[in-house]
Amino acid sequence: MSISEDITVRLPWDGQPYSIKRFGVAITNCDSEPVQTPGCIEGHGALLVLDPIDLTMLQVSDNTEALLGIAPATLLGQPVDRVLGADATDRLRTCLAHMSIECNPLYVLTHPGQDGTLPLDVTVHAIDDVIIVEFETTARTAAQEPDYYALIKQSVSRLQQVSTLQALGDVATQEIRALTGLDRVMVYQFHDDGHGEVVAESCRPDLPPWLGLHYPAHDIPEPAREIFRRVWIRSLRHVGAPLAELVPLAHPHTGQALNMTHCALRGASVMYTEYLHNIHVTSTLTLSIRRGEKLWGLISCHHYEGAVTLPYGMRAACELLAQIVSLQHESAENREHLQYRLQLEETHQQLIAQAFRGEGLSGMMVGPSTLLDAVDSTGVALFYQDRWWCIGATPSLAQLEALSVWLSTRADFGSTTRPIFVTDALSSLYPAGEHFADVASGVLALALARTGTNRILWFRSEILHKINWAGSPHDKPITLGPHGPRLTPRRSFELFVESVRHRATPWSAIESDTVLRFRTLLIEFIASRAEHLGALNNELTRSNEELDSFAFIASHDLKEPLRGIHKYAHQLAADAGGKDPQRPDRLQSLMRLTLRMDSLLDSLLHFSRVGRIELQYERVDLNDVIADALEMVDARRAANNAIVLMPQRLPDVVCDRVRVREVFVNLLSNALKYNKQAGVRIEVGYLDEDNITPQMALPPEAVGHPVFYVKDDGIGIAPEHIDQVFKMFKRLHGRDDYGGGSGAGLTIVKKLVERHGGTVWLTSVLGQGSTFYFSLPARETP
Ligand code: ADP
Repeated sequence: MSISEDITVRLPWDGQPYSIKRFGVAITNCDSEPVQTPGCIEGHGALLVLDPIDLTMLQVSDNTEALLGIAPATLLGQPVDRVLGADATDRLRTCLAHMSIECNPLYVLTHPGQDGTLPLDVTVHAIDDVIIVEFETTARTAAQEPDYYALIKQSVSRLQQVSTLQALGDVATQEIRALTGLDRVMVYQFHDDGHGEVVAESCRPDLPPWLGLHYPAHDIPEPAREIFRRVWIRSLRHVGAPLAELVPLAHPHTGQALNMTHCALRGASVMYTEYLHNIHVTSTLTLSIRRGEKLWGLISCHHYEGAVTLPYGMRAACELLAQIVSLQHESAENREHLQYRLQLEETHQQLIAQAFRGEGLSGMMVGPSTLLDAVDSTGVALFYQDRWWCIGATPSLAQLEALSVWLSTRADFGSTTRPIFVTDALSSLYPAGEHFADVASGVLALALARTGTNRILWFRSEILHKINWAGSPHDKPITLGPHGPRLTPRRSFELFVESVRHRATPWSAIESDTVLRFRTLLIEFIASRAEHLGALNNELTRSNEELDSFAFIASHDLKEPLRGIHKYAHQLAADAGGKDPQRPDRLQSLMRLTLRMDSLLDSLLHFSRVGRIELQYERVDLNDVIADALEMVDARRAANNAIVLMPQRLPDVVCDRVRVREVFVNLLSNALKYNKQAGVRIEVGYLDEDNITPQMALPPEAVGHPVFYVKDDGIGIAPEHIDQVFKMFKRLHGRDDYGGGSGAGLTIVKKLVERHGGTVWLTSVLGQGSTFYFSLPARETP
């Protein structure tokens, strides 16, 4: 059977009829060449396909006579011991029974070979319900084999010392070249669009370097990439050497083509052979670099003279190195990324802090860091509060608007699952982007909410870069074969420099990831700002209520003395002769009313000052403060025959002495005032962890802080009025009852305590007495 003969078989994976044509007569697309089922092997070895049940030979390579001493026709249908002999067959059986050989070729034994020929290494693996046994001539005897373990141990330790991706590539190429002796070893990275770039290289010094060269995607067709997702290694001993074809070409029972993905001897594809021939390569070794399931790139090794035999042990060592490079690749990349990620995250934290300090998100547009630094970019535009805020080079407002509208129409942006959109070639998706490609070829858009148009757009300007192709990537020569047009591999590898336009540096996965995390911080900020605004609104409502009370007082309480003043002044004026007998009383009333108005106005003024004064913090012995306060209310205390108890000494606190004394004076004078007892009893103290009870109704914000109290046995306050007493000018009694008061005292107490960061509250039982508590959060001594 000639290897150019056309035969129809079914492919193992999809059962479709497929035409094996070794010389690719009808191939117009490399992706359709049956590289996994070529039906032939490299001629320096032999191959047997066995039935897994009885180990009879179903297919054999057509060179068995030369290598194994028996012609294919004699072998087919016979048990494998016809080739191996009884002992080796036993060994094979043991291997089949105990080792994991599914898609995993393992060395079984060395076959002595024919008289005058070299011994043959025998490997075996199983696939698709057949057993494949491969015989490979080795250049060395077992005694000449180097100690691969020792060699690889050294390489591994060097690979583990590197910390950057570039260094990893450099060391990997050096180590593999040293191990194999091949002329050129390259790390070849696949870019997202499938084209490849040589990113590291170690080569014979007299060879022209290929480092930095780019290769079009079709140089390594998809079926070849597919193989490298499954196997770690592929070596081709000699590009021009003869091939041996399988006999029969398809499985005799199923008609399936043999899946040779894992065969070390698999015949190279026509395309690949011609390709290598065009670049004068005689022997190759290819290893895969994988990141998880993804094929990241290849370690591609070329030799330029004669055949290179890489024995099983050497291949196993290279395979291990490829696996270690793949693992190290991930950790080196992680290390590099971590550095960048930390730097970005630090900036993000700083930006959020700025937003908290400033006027919200727009606070991130000015300051030591700006949104421009949130990711490596040349311009940024924030759409927030119905307007655009821009820094750096950005499209015009009209262009931003149009771009934003276009973004909103995209199904892949703005939803909960995809709040991010990235491109490094905007105009290829959005033709209008061509007008501002210079400033915004790269766009990273981040939606700030599930709905709405609040968003941040980062831009990257166009980079006019040049790609050095090894030959024009646009050449895909088609020649006319006997069966019609067919694709041939490229012949030209002359340097082809291509200028790329309307492209920006691509956004990395790490940038999208960190920006997405930044989004979470931004959303939290927006939510907390909303909460804060709510709190401010409540505060405003309260202030308004206070203003209302003020208006009420101003119109009512202040007007009342004014009316009186007016009335008496009028009467005094009318009584020009001075005959009115009530004149002295009226003058008295006039003075009383003006005094009252004066005191009301004082209270108002004082309250407004309390909100603005600067507190003077110092370490204060509160016992002194109480002593001062008691002195100030002494007249009333004496009048009420009151005793003031202090169950324990009060601690030192850091506070404004004068203001805290004012708090105590107010509370003490109320305790003395609102009391009908003959002998008033007041207690001043503080709470520590031991004497807190639920009855004290400790609010959460006071927990953990020193709390002081003033307790009286006075008239008490009804539950429905408890909330009222801290309101401005709120009195629970008639104006002149209990010695009169403006109703401002407790409002001032509350303000002063809050200015200290504390809180004030009370418990009371009508007719029995009240306790006013306040907390003063601990602070450092200034
Ligand atoms: P005033 O200057 O009228 O005393 P405050 O603001 O100090 O104003 O108090 C507001 C109101 O709360 C008082 O008019 C009084 O009715 C009530 N009040 C304050 N302290 C006590 C207390 N210790 N016992 C009973 N009622 C009190």
